[in-house]
Amino acid sequence: MTLTETEANFIIIGGGIAGAGAGYELSALGKVILLEREAQPGYHTTGRSAAVYSATYGQGDPVLRALVLGSTDFLKNPPAGFSEHALMSPRRHLTICHRDDFAPLARLHDDLAQVTDDVAWIGREEILGMLPVLTEPYQEKALLERDFFDMDVHALHEGFLRGLRSRGGKVITGSPAEAIERTAAGWRVSTPTGTYEVPVLVNAAGAWVDEVAKLADVAPIGIQPLRRTAILVDPPAGQDIHNWPFVTEAKNTFYFKPDAGKILVSPMDQTPSDPCDARPEEMDVAYAAYHLEEAIGHPVPRIDHQWAGLRNHVADHHPVAGFDPEAKGFFWLAGQGGFGIKTAVAMSRITASLIQGEGLPEDLVALGLKEDDISVKRLKK
Ligand SMILES: Cc1cc2nc3c(=O)[nH]c(=O)nc-3n(C[C@H](O)[C@H](O)[C@H](O)COP(=O)(O)OP(=O)(O)OC[C@H]3O[C@@H](n4cnc5c(N)ncnc54)[C@H](O)[C@@H]3O)c2cc1C
Repeated sequence: MTLTETEANFIIIGGGIAGAGAGYELSALGKVILLEREAQPGYHTTGRSAAVYSATYGQGDPVLRALVLGSTDFLKNPPAGFSEHALMSPRRHLTICHRDDFAPLARLHDDLAQVTDDVAWIGREEILGMLPVLTEPYQEKALLERDFFDMDVHALHEGFLRGLRSRGGKVITGSPAEAIERTAAGWRVSTPTGTYEVPVLVNAAGAWVDEVAKLADVAPIGIQPLRRTAILVDPPAGQDIHNWPFVTEAKNTFYFKPDAGKILVSPMDQTPSDPCDARPEEMDVAYAAYHLEEAIGHPVPRIDHQWAGLRNHVADHHPVAGFDPEAKGFFWLAGQGGFGIKTAVAMSRITASLIQGEGLPEDLVALGLKEDDISVKRLKK
């Protein structure tokens, strides 16, 4: 059946965390239709993350820090009824470094110390207290951060979608935007499930944002998907890994963390990719296993599960939120890289505020964020 829907105020293309969060906020302002190509809205990057919150992501990058801090209250105390589960649970962050070269760790310490007090040097005893299996070359010193959490991505994503629906919005899955036309009043989006006309279109299509723009005859922003791999393996026999920290190697060659009784490991690969259903490469899976074996001194006999996802960046690795300067009513919500879950609350609030013509929310301005930091204009000079 094909239907034409002209009653909606906003159409959102993409049902990952970005589109879902935007839909949650916008549905308080008007009728939202969210279109998702896949049967499951979290099928692509959103369902493939490492699910952690860090207030110093990107070596303390101030723009990302403002967006994370601007999301924190909601994540720690979501509105009543938003989720049955806590969205965050504490997990310490340990950055380890091979004793051959402590320079990267020292640089990280200096950068983080500029933005937070929550970064401490720790020595062998404390390191082994947290991670008794860590091998000798990594035991000498490490950096500890406590303002770090596991996130329940599914609960956050579902909470956004449930909120959107309860305010009268619609989530239509299996519904790819296939053609987009400008109309006198805004945009007409055609999908196999129907044609929709709205004044405001939000492009939250993750790795595909430039492809969606092309359909609408809007100039691209230069999104670059970067593939990242993760594996799940069994812990060493007899080890209680439940309270292990999230461990990052200081040169960003790998990270690992406990995940529902298994160890999640990533070789922190970032291989340029076209937008696609990303699959892990054998070599990246092998690197992940190798790094874990080297760090914890136990063989990895079997890979339980492996996957890859696309982290989507624009040139300066900051996200993008705003109306296209040359296409009235075409709003970009893009470039969430490796930080799209922990910043989703702030990015969604920003989306609603900018669409209403109200500028950035005041609390984000107070955190030092400027509209230019995330504007579309910076990518279209
Ligand atoms: C291995 C890995 C680890 C990560 N770890 C973390 C972490 O610990 N913390 C964190 O904050 N972030 C993390 N991230 C990043 C985070 O997952 C992303 O930033 C976030 O999920 C991006 O969400 P999105 O909604 O933009 O994209 P997606 O989830 O990819 O959603 C975009 C959606 O648009 C849909 N779509 C595309 N084209 C169309 C169309 N034409 N019509 C309809 N629908 C369309 C797609 O089907 C897709 O579902 C990680 C990412 C990876 C890959």
